Amino acid sequence: VLYVDSQISHLFSDDHRELLRSFAAQAAVCIENARLFAEVQEESRRRLEEEMKARELEARRDAMAAFVSIAAHDLKNPLTVIKGGIYLLRRQGLTPAGEEVVESMERSLQRAMRLVQTYLDAVCLEDGRELELSTSALEVGPVVRRELELLRARLPANRPFEFEVQVPEGLRVQADESRLEQILGNLLDNAVKYSPSGGRVDVRAYPCDGEVAIEVSDSGVGLAPESMGRLFLRYSRVGDTRATTGTGLGLWITRRLVESQGGKIEAESRPGGGSTFRFTLPRAR
Ligand code: ADP
Repeated sequence: VLYVDSQISHLFSDDHRELLRSFAAQAAVCIENARLFAEVQEESRRRLEEEMKARELEARRDAMAAFVSIAAHDLKNPLTVIKGGIYLLRRQGLTPAGEEVVESMERSLQRAMRLVQTYLDAVCLEDGRELELSTSALEVGPVVRRELELLRARLPANRPFEFEVQVPEGLRVQADESRLEQILGNLLDNAVKYSPSGGRVDVRAYPCDGEVAIEVSDSGVGLAPESMGRLFLRYSRVGDTRATTGTGLGLWITRRLVESQGGKIEAESRPGGGSTFRFTLPRAR
């Protein structure tokens, strides 16, 4: 509103009024332009901030990838030396107590080698290379049972778990054996890791549309629907991760391992209601 007043009566002519009207119209345009300009400035500030955040995240990921690469290569050699030492100890003959110790060392070594393999796989995928595979017809049941044995042997006594396996005898997949172990190992590890007070873990396998579906279900903490989209992304840890440690690489690599063998992986979960991870692989006769 433009308000002009005077004590003198009849001071303003029609020309004055016209002049004031045109001045008011131009002032309104100026005010509108200033508002639009402020909006544009705010929008470009917000975009710049977002770009900087994305660049910072990318730089942090690059630094993480470089560290993972060095750590994986540095760890591989000492682990290979330990493996050789265990082989030599066995060849010299062991007492039953010694055999027990060596078996426990072997399980720890296997776990450490798995972790190193995960890091090496991550480096390979970061470099844009494909993961190495050598597939053959494999029976699912024995691989599942072996992985469960490894898991059981290292579970602490204060985390009671009930395991249930439902895999038909003779059910076979076309897959790389050590990669199938790696996939199952990752899913089983997560099933117990995200079940802080113990619980139940079910592994099922069944034929499904010419393929084989394999499911790992737990009764653990579960996940909220908004976390599900980020589950299989690299370095992605979701939900409340304060109580656990991890790199967020396991499921990313698991997905790539399943897909590179011609399968698919998906997850279903409910907060507090456990999770089910289901993957498929080509069926072998
Ligand atoms: P990490 O366990 O190292 O964090 P993963 O890639 O194996 O990384 O898993 C990614 C995220 O998915 C985890 O941080 C966790 O939040 C969630 N997650 C994976 N498996 C489960 C599960 N069985 N139950 C609940 N959350 C899970």
